[in-house]
Amino acid sequence: MSATERLFWQDPYQRHFRAWVMETLTFKGQPAAVLDRTCFYPTSGGQPHDLGTLGGIPVVEVLEEEGGKIIHLLERPLMLGPVEGEIDWSRRFDHMQQHTGQHILSQAFERELNAATTSFHLGSEVVTIDVAIPTLSPKEAARVEALANRIVIEDRPVHAKEYDEEEASSLPLRKAPVVHGRIRIVEVEGFDLSACGGTHVRRTGEVGPIHIRRWERRRGQVRVEFLCGWRALEDYAKRDRLLQEAANQLSVGTEELSEAIQRLQKAEQLARRTAESLRKRLLDYELPQLLAEAEPLGEMRVLCRLLEGYDAGNMRYIAQNLTQTPGIVALLAVTEPSPQLCFARSENLPLDMSQLLRQVVAPYGGRGGGRPHVAQGGGVAPEDLEEILQKAKELLR
Ligand SMILES: [Zn+2]
Repeated sequence: MSATERLFWQDPYQRHFRAWVMETLTFKGQPAAVLDRTCFYPTSGGQPHDLGTLGGIPVVEVLEEEGGKIIHLLERPLMLGPVEGEIDWSRRFDHMQQHTGQHILSQAFERELNAATTSFHLGSEVVTIDVAIPTLSPKEAARVEALANRIVIEDRPVHAKEYDEEEASSLPLRKAPVVHGRIRIVEVEGFDLSACGGTHVRRTGEVGPIHIRRWERRRGQVRVEFLCGWRALEDYAKRDRLLQEAANQLSVGTEELSEAIQRLQKAEQLARRTAESLRKRLLDYELPQLLAEAEPLGEMRVLCRLLEGYDAGNMRYIAQNLTQTPGIVALLAVTEPSPQLCFARSENLPLDMSQLLRQVVAPYGGRGGGRPHVAQGGGVAPEDLEEILQKAKELLR
């Protein structure tokens, strides 16, 4: 069968059409139809397919076969004969804005940074191009974006024209054709010439704002994420709302937001330092009491405690201070920020705390180490800490 007539090339603004169902088939397990002509754009050249209906039946995918036959995958089968089609215009117009925007942005990268576009992807959320430069600075991105938006504001005409291969090869094309025979060239007047089979807006003004949102280095190139038209406006509105919400929460204007965050960070640092110093003072106050609680065991006294309200740093501080007194063994544990143990002894006792700690945590999947007079460990479940401490105490007997 011959190629499907592409109404979207004659008029990309046509949304409604009449055609003839020439062939019905099953494709990828789905009912499908081939028409003599169609407004439905098939996935190709980085632009996704259209959606819409044929004879009231939803079209779920559109693809192109070699030889130019366009296949419409349908929710339900269609009969041979005449049919009316309607494309989802908001989806198509969005694709036109993004695609023409991409041509403009790619040419802006060529002019400002001498950087070629090596691939284009138009997704439902993000649009990206890969650009052949190793890095991109924020200043360079701003220059490219400014040039692209200047071309938009100049509202230049956009045309598509077919040439034969020889004529096309003499044109200063940004993107060389991948097809042979008749070649379709899309021109942004006085700015960009590219071989392209996509659907484009009539004038650059319809693209609307072009916004480079972010970029990342990828396999020696830069992948640039951008939004055009309504997508860019929605993104600006969303960011504006977020900024306003953040400013409201801090009771400042959006202009003062950065300053307010700095103030908040300083206040938080100060609060943390104050809490830390108060906790140390409280510890110093509690140390004599903890020492008094140590149980006599032969020649030594043992303090065996799961400490609550203290972290690992505080635990080390307690262990160090208690063992300044001769004859003390401290077997301590905390749950914050994670379950940890600290075993320590006074200088005058001939015990190996590192060995003791490793021995008691091993059956619980824990690990530890240190020196003979002080050792630390972790990697155990918080609910096992009490039991581990008791085992260590029994081993000391
Ligand atoms: Zn294109």
